[in-house]
Amino acid sequence: MNNQLVQFAYLASAVLFIVGMRNLSSPKTAPRGNLIASFGMLVAVLATLAMSEVVSYWTILAGVIVGSGIGTVLAVRIQMTAMPQMVALLNGFGGGASALVATAELLSYVRRGVEPVGVVPIAIVLGLLIGALTFTGSLIAFAKLQELMKGAPMVYPGQQVVNAVLVLAAVALGYLVVTQPFELMPYYGLALLSLVLGVLFVIPIGGADMPVVISLLNSYSGLAACATGFVLGNAGLVISGSLVGASGIILTKIMCDAMNRSLANVLFSGFGAVDQTAVAGAVETRTAKGYTPDDAAVIFMNARSCIVVPGYGMAVAQAQHAVRELSDLLQSKGISVKFAIHPVAGRMPGHMNVLLAEADVPYEQLIEMDEINPEFPETDVALVIGANDVVNPDARTDKGSPIYGMPILDVDRAQHVFVIKRSMNPGFAGVQNPLFFNDNTMMVFGDAKGTVLKIAEAIKNLS
Ligand code: NDP
Repeated sequence: MNNQLVQFAYLASAVLFIVGMRNLSSPKTAPRGNLIASFGMLVAVLATLAMSEVVSYWTILAGVIVGSGIGTVLAVRIQMTAMPQMVALLNGFGGGASALVATAELLSYVRRGVEPVGVVPIAIVLGLLIGALTFTGSLIAFAKLQELMKGAPMVYPGQQVVNAVLVLAAVALGYLVVTQPFELMPYYGLALLSLVLGVLFVIPIGGADMPVVISLLNSYSGLAACATGFVLGNAGLVISGSLVGASGIILTKIMCDAMNRSLANVLFSGFGAVDQTAVAGAVETRTAKGYTPDDAAVIFMNARSCIVVPGYGMAVAQAQHAVRELSDLLQSKGISVKFAIHPVAGRMPGHMNVLLAEADVPYEQLIEMDEINPEFPETDVALVIGANDVVNPDARTDKGSPIYGMPILDVDRAQHVFVIKRSMNPGFAGVQNPLFFNDNTMMVFGDAKGTVLKIAEAIKNLS
């Protein structure tokens, strides 16, 4: 295929990526955005195939069949709650692929006896360094989330000094590779060091912060792809790599802001290394009051407004369809129902939006935190379903709490608060929640799905 046509195809795919991403910013247009961006990727892949001179189409086809086969099985079998691990693996493979491409290109230069020039040697070093680091870092993140290894941060004295020394060593090796590309020992040394750095960067970060790390590694995998784009002189790869790199870092920032933490704090503070309960303020002396679904039904019969606050427990219990049924029932009784969406409810950004959209809850009913918070004082019932940290009032008041400063949903300001969860166990941050002991809070213990269905049943029986 004519090179100009290929470059034009890359430009077209870049435009499609950007338009697709623009559409992803609202749940309503997100499916269309996905389609547009996927089409852009198809255009880019076809353009790349059209100019492939080195690899036979049979080899590419074999790769496509094996890769798509594994990808399809994983995508079909994965539970929604395990999505962060899946994304971690995919980032890791992306980074690993970039490191392999950079290596293959360098070896090809060596074999041909041609020195790489311009930005290429630097791009080879960056593709290897960032790609290999992303690969092992993502595997550690996967292992922590999958509970194959302990989620707690692994910290030791002088850790950051050791890491800094290793980074300097990597820079020195990278310099050697750029200046003497035919000497392969520094390259292999850099490869090994990059793999080790990936492990060392992620082990001191606690399981609770893993989604942020995954988002950051996602950005790295984009940067590694961008670097290999320069190595290969492939504009499509440079563009899509930079888009992934930029969007990953923006998402990381959004997640850090939603937890009121800096990225440096997430990466270097060893959050979760200490016993969280020991620093979480005064020990609670009040007792939480348990109520039955029938009690809840009685309160609902006298209510006019309800705000549902979904959290991680709703995802675990796959209760979104039951929640939708309850919401429909309440609305049929003339009760207004809204859903309050906290930016980090669940275990990945947009987790609650995705689940509620799957259950066909209308988008207009999903209200973001800042918009819904002023409505709680005028609301009769706040129904908290498997959420904990995102409704913890200590985040507003207790300076000793590890989640102090995290913006929360002000459910405690509603007239009545129902909390559906199975026990008094803490949520992700590992801290107790004073909300459960408030006078206006009624705990309804049980699995989210079963309990929501029982409340709906009790309301039907009362009416
Ligand atoms: P939490 O993790 O704070 O709490 C979830 C609660 O759900 C638990 O207390 C648990 O209590 C309950 N639960 C678990 N399974 C069930 C079930 N089957 N039925 C009913 N309840 C259940 O969740 P939140 O959504 O409130 O907060 C998310 C946390 O994750 C925050 O700390 C946030 O910072 C963190 N996080 C989120 C990210 C994101 O992108 N979304 C990224 C990084 C971190 P019990 O065991 O008693 O049932």
